[in-house]
Amino acid sequence: MLILFCRVLFSIAGLLLFFLFDQLSANECLKLCVLLAAFLLGVGGMLHAWRGSSSASAVTVLLRIVVPVFYLDAAIKGFLRDYFGMRPNPNAVLQAMFATDQAETGEFFLHNSVALAQAAGWFVLVTAAVLLADRQLLRRQAARASRPPGLAQKCFAVSMAIFLVLLHVNTTMRRENPALFWPLRYQQYSAQLEAMKSMQQALTAAMAAPGDWHVRYAGEDARTVILVIGESTNRASMSLYGYPRATTPRLDAMRAKLLVFNDVISPASSTVESMMTMLTPADIGSPDAWMAKPNLLMLAEAAGYKTFWVSNQTRNDGWIGLLAGQADESDFINYGTGRGENNFDGNLFQPFAHALADSAPKKLIVVHLLGAHPSYDMRYPSRFAHFDQVQDAVSAQMASQGRSSWIRHQRDEYDNAIRYGDYVLGTLIGMADTAKAGRAASLLFVSDHGQEVGYSRNHAGHSASDKSGYEIPMLIWDNQQAPQSTAARAALESRPYQTDKLDATVLGLLKIETRYYAAHDDILSGAFQPVQRFMNGLQYQRGTPALVR
Ligand SMILES: [Zn+2]
Repeated sequence: MLILFCRVLFSIAGLLLFFLFDQLSANECLKLCVLLAAFLLGVGGMLHAWRGSSSASAVTVLLRIVVPVFYLDAAIKGFLRDYFGMRPNPNAVLQAMFATDQAETGEFFLHNSVALAQAAGWFVLVTAAVLLADRQLLRRQAARASRPPGLAQKCFAVSMAIFLVLLHVNTTMRRENPALFWPLRYQQYSAQLEAMKSMQQALTAAMAAPGDWHVRYAGEDARTVILVIGESTNRASMSLYGYPRATTPRLDAMRAKLLVFNDVISPASSTVESMMTMLTPADIGSPDAWMAKPNLLMLAEAAGYKTFWVSNQTRNDGWIGLLAGQADESDFINYGTGRGENNFDGNLFQPFAHALADSAPKKLIVVHLLGAHPSYDMRYPSRFAHFDQVQDAVSAQMASQGRSSWIRHQRDEYDNAIRYGDYVLGTLIGMADTAKAGRAASLLFVSDHGQEVGYSRNHAGHSASDKSGYEIPMLIWDNQQAPQSTAARAALESRPYQTDKLDATVLGLLKIETRYYAAHDDILSGAFQPVQRFMNGLQYQRGTPALVR
C-alpha cells in the first residue's frame, strides 16, 4: 500500500510542477490534485487490495492512462491562460474551434504555434519525468517482498472510491474532472448556440420588412455617432456630478464641451434587461417590442450607416450577442467568462481607433465597457488606486452613517474604478475629437444601470430596490454643438429621463427619420415630453427617500 501512496505522490508532484511554472492556478491545481489522488487511491487502492501482489501491473496501466489525461488537461489550461489571460473561458476556445470555418481554425493554430508547442513540451516533459520516476520506484519495490493487503487497506480503498463518487456530486469539482470538462463545456456551448438561433428565427419571423420602416437619413454627408455604454456606474460617485472625491478629473476639465444630464435613471438594475430596452423600441411598458420592431443597428444600417460593435464584455451573452452580431463589424476583446473577468477597458482604444479610421462616410460605433462592474478592484490598473484607505470627507461621512469597514473599502475601490473609467471615457472623447477635423461627430455616454456601494445601506453590488441601482450618468459630446444660453443648457441638462427611451435620443443623433422614432422621447428634441418613470415597478421621483419594498 505504501508504494501506491508513493506513486500517487509522484503523480501529484507533476501537477504541482504545472502550478509552480504558472500553467495552473492554485484553485485548478488543488481540484485536480484532489480528483487525481481520490481516483488513484480509490480505484488503484481497490485493485491493490483485492488482487494483491499481482495488482502492480494493473495499477501501472491505470496510472499510465489516467495521469497523462490529467497532465494534458493541465497543459491545455496552461495554454489557455497564456492566450486568454487570467481565467480562460472554454466557450471562447470552442467558438474558435467550432463556430469558425476551417481556414480560421487553421489560422488559430498557426498564430499560436509557439504557445501550443510550449504547452505540448510541458505535457511531454512532465509526463515522461513522472512515468520514468514511477518505473524506477517499481523496480526498487520488485526487489522487496510485500505483505498481503489487510482489512484496513480494503476499507481505506473503498472509502476513497466512495469519496471519489461524492466529489462528483459537487458541480465545480465535476466540471474540473478532465474527462468531463470539455464534453460538459461543449454541451453548454451547443445549448447557447441553439438558444441564439431560435431567438434569431423568432426575431426575423416577427419583424416587419425594412421597406415598412420608412427610414430616411436627414443629416450631413459624413457623420460619426458613438454610443459608449458604461457598466454599473452610479453618478453619485462622479465629481462631474458634485461628488467630493476627484473621481472624474478629465470629464471635469472638459465640462464646458459636454451636456451633462443630471436626472437620468436606467430601466432596470441589470445589464441585459436594461440594454434590451435602451437599444430597441421596447420600453418598460412594452418590454417585448424588440421582437417585432427593428433595433438601433438595423435602423442605422437601413439608413446607410456602417455599424461597429466594440466590446469588453463577453460575446456569449444571449441577447447582447445576438444584437452585436448584427453589426457590420464586431470586436470582442474579452475572452473571459463574462463580467467577472479582468480585462481593462483601456484595451478598447485600439479597436475603437480602427473603427474611427474606417473610411465609411456614416458610422455608428457602439463601445461596450466593463466599467465599474463588481469586483471593483479588477477594473483598474494599480496606478489608479487613488482612494484606498484615504481619510477624507467621504470616508468620514460613511463612518458617521455606520457603514462597515468592508463597505467603506468597497467604496474606495469603486471610486478607483470610476476614476479609471474617467480616463477611458476622456480618452475616447479625445480620440473622437481628433479623428477627422470637420466631420460631424457625436458621442453619447450612458451607463447600463447604477450600483449601490454604501450610499444608502451596508451593501455593495447591483440593487433592484435602491435608487442607487438606477441613478446613472448620461452625457453628450458633440463637435458641432450650437452655442446655448446658460439657462437653456441648464434646463436641458435637468430633463428627467429614463433610458428605456434611449433609442429615440440615439436616432435623433443619427439624424434618422423613421416611423420608429418618437421625438417626444428624444431628450434633445424640442418636442421632448417627460413621462412618469418607474423603478422596480414603483413610481420614481428624484430626491425622495430610497424606496422600500
Ligand atoms: Zn450591467
